Amino acid sequence: MPSASRVYSYSAVLMGSPILLKLFSHDEALASRVFRLIKQYEDLLTVNRAQSQVMDINHAAGRHPVTVSQPVFELIRCAKTASLYPGSAFNLAIGPLVKRWKIGFKGDTVPPADDIASLLSITRPEDVLLDEANSSVLLAKAGMEIDLGAIAKGYIADRVRDYLRKEGADLGLINLGGNIQTLGSPEGGWSVGLKKPFAADELIGTMDVENMSVVTSGTYERYFEQDGKRYHHILDPRTGYPLDNELDSVTIVSKNSIDGDIWTTLMFGMGVEKGCAALRARPDIEAIFVTKAKEVIFSSSHLFRFTLLDNGYRVTDSIA
Ligand code: FAD
Ligand code: MG
Repeated sequence: MPSASRVYSYSAVLMGSPILLKLFSHDEALASRVFRLIKQYEDLLTVNRAQSQVMDINHAAGRHPVTVSQPVFELIRCAKTASLYPGSAFNLAIGPLVKRWKIGFKGDTVPPADDIASLLSITRPEDVLLDEANSSVLLAKAGMEIDLGAIAKGYIADRVRDYLRKEGADLGLINLGGNIQTLGSPEGGWSVGLKKPFAADELIGTMDVENMSVVTSGTYERYFEQDGKRYHHILDPRTGYPLDNELDSVTIVSKNSIDGDIWTTLMFGMGVEKGCAALRARPDIEAIFVTKAKEVIFSSSHLFRFTLLDNGYRVTDSIA
């Protein structure tokens, strides 16, 4: 098996996020092709610029359907399905609220309650109408906006894994700003850090994984403070305000990174107890909850090996 000393790292900034690629061969050309692939998906999916296929749909809201490419259609279909799970906190139509709050962007501020209430009425996932035959998407009401910020990095991480495999790489890791997908099994597995919330570069512990994705969503990733209160970027689609419960972060270990990206949001909405109960039906997906009370709670832990570092956190194996 290859040893860790032969790992080569390549980095870029794309999608407003630091991107890290690790390969077991020195291959600048392959790294450039991977970053180009990520950029192509960013250009299709971004809502942070005036033009992209998703923005074309948003600009036509309440007026006409827009035909999009197959990957964009499939990702939107997948995001809509996740949004329609009973009680789902995931909502692909959350765009108007994300744009109003601007959390993580210049000008972030708490909107007036009336604004939030009226924007909520144009965030219904049922109003994202898909036409399979024409590969087109219509937003039923004017002002609606799709936002794929909670799923697109997971989708892209899986495409990078598939591309590396096609190019003959059997070991690799891509980190899209906290969405990690790994390829193969180096000696000892891939060691992925579990971040300590609100403590820049400190870790709670490490997870060793092989051929697995590790996705973390945290309240500490993007937030602002106003009048002594912290407002983070994962919004509760039922209230229009940031999700407020016992959690600082949720990490999902799963085969596919798109599942990790969806389920971190679902778990944020459910909290520890309901989340663990829901995951009993999904042995292919495991959650690591980090609570404000400095607990680390696993839904189960068959897919990874966890090592706790000594820094004030304690592990509870499972509440199940
Ligand atoms: P996650 O928890 O996975 O997702 C949170 C994000 O999803 C929020 O930021 C919001 O966009 C959205 N969201 C909030 N609540 C919900 C909900 N209930 N249901 C569904 N979605 C929700 N950042 C920049 O600063 N500049 C850029 O130019 C930029 N371009 C990007 C382009 C692309 C294609 C993508 C995918 C992301 C880009 N981003 C950019 C980052 C983006 O704005 C989000 O901050 C990021 O995707 C959040 O990822 P996460 O894993 O931290 O959080
Ligand atoms: Mg997500």
